[in-house]
Amino acid sequence: MIKKVLVANRGEIAVRIMRSCREMGIRTVAVYSDADRKAMHVIYADEAYHIGPSPSSESYLNMEKILEVARKSKADAIHPGYGFLSENAVFSEKCQQAGIKFIGPQPYAISQMGDKITARKTMMAAGVPVVPGTESAITSEDEAIKTVKEVGLPVMVKASAGGGGKGMRLVKNEKDIVSSVRAARSEAKSAFGDDAVYIEKYIESPHHIEFQILADQHGHVIHLFERECSVQRRHQKIIEETPSPILTPEIREEMGKAAVAAAKAVDYEGAGTIEFIVDSQLNYYFLEMNTRLQVEHPITERVVGVDLVKEQINIASGKVLALRQEDLQQNGHAIECRVYAEDASNNFMPAPGKVTHITIPYGVGVRVDGYIYEGFEIPIYYDPLIAKLIVWGRDRKDAIERTVRALQEFKIAGVKNSLNFLENIMTTPDFVKGNYTTHFIDENITHLLSHDGCEGECEDMVVIAAFLEYLYRIRKASPKEMTTLKNNWKDYSRIRSVLKL
Ligand code: ADP
Repeated sequence: MIKKVLVANRGEIAVRIMRSCREMGIRTVAVYSDADRKAMHVIYADEAYHIGPSPSSESYLNMEKILEVARKSKADAIHPGYGFLSENAVFSEKCQQAGIKFIGPQPYAISQMGDKITARKTMMAAGVPVVPGTESAITSEDEAIKTVKEVGLPVMVKASAGGGGKGMRLVKNEKDIVSSVRAARSEAKSAFGDDAVYIEKYIESPHHIEFQILADQHGHVIHLFERECSVQRRHQKIIEETPSPILTPEIREEMGKAAVAAAKAVDYEGAGTIEFIVDSQLNYYFLEMNTRLQVEHPITERVVGVDLVKEQINIASGKVLALRQEDLQQNGHAIECRVYAEDASNNFMPAPGKVTHITIPYGVGVRVDGYIYEGFEIPIYYDPLIAKLIVWGRDRKDAIERTVRALQEFKIAGVKNSLNFLENIMTTPDFVKGNYTTHFIDENITHLLSHDGCEGECEDMVVIAAFLEYLYRIRKASPKEMTTLKNNWKDYSRIRSVLKL
């Protein structure tokens, strides 16, 4: 029985995991860095422990410190969330040795899938189609040239240890093969400490479609259908939807079976995702497996009607999966928009800072997973994802219309953010028609960066509204509250410039 879970993460995912724990009557333990002293996950948890300075290498990645807190707080299990230690086989192993359940797969499955070359080999052996390319790491320049001749240009040179869209290079010309392999190698060495690279065919105008799977400790494996994740910037997802606008029922069934076979091939346990790249003829190829909960998991939860975190915890407790493949279906349509604190017009540069105002959208079919609040200072040290808007509609059209409405209600002031950019995506004709590939953002960038003329004005109005509310609070405040309030509005220059004073 799991009675207490330490959540080794921060931000929206830490809060989201704790919510499911609370519903299950499980106590929660938060860990936090210097920059996160006032973070939402610390406020939400039943207990919270400081684990170190702000850089994640000294806090959220500090395995020993986290295990020490787990022992001290008597947690039975650790949920790693996504990112940080979630796909770290050593950490999973250390948890096992410490007698603390790691809510995720066994170390073996993590290491088999964490290395892309090993994963490709395992998938080939399991009969799952992989992108045509090398079977092992490239060992010489001659081998690289020979492989490209066999596979045909264009190709991708990829780091075996790659992740997060890093360590990938597109090669279109023969003369660039050698230099690209060299560059990819040194990039991989410095980013991942491992210079192994391989070559695979570059799929033109592809879709990124992934399948959610669940596997218990008793050999039952099911899939919970797909998520279409082709709206990406810099190879990173920004909008996901389910069902995919392009899959046919036949291909969906085939891909679902391939995903289950992939998970079985590594004796998988827990929730995981099999990512595929799909070409315009709907040929699909295994890309990689993420051995953890994904950022975009809520759209599956909405359409299939499950709580994936609860499933993860039940699996970790040794329970038999209660869900059966034949009972599952996709009900309606869900879209997730990732709201980042970033500046789309400046190459999506992260834009941390203090949140001066936030209005969260509500209403039918709307879910927001977030962690920021008014006055919270978004730290520069971590991923700039600040909230996820998850919207459900009875069909795709309904879901898009509802997403636009929710995005219009969503207001964040104080930090630059992607709300306007996301709304522009929702109204781009190719997105509305469901006619898009991973090149969507590049192809539509001019329209996506355009403002509707009201953006500056709306932002000004949000600042004015926040300031009026602040003045109102000051009038009602007790002397003690006054001191806190006075420290709360430091940015007078902003209101002066809005009011043209
Ligand atoms: P990471 O592990 O860094 O996320 P992935 O292998 O999952 O890398 O690929 C990320 C994205 O890069 C894909 O969603 C796709 O847009 C693009 N990509 C990767 N491999 C290929 C390929 N062979 N052909 C075309 N695009 C690719």
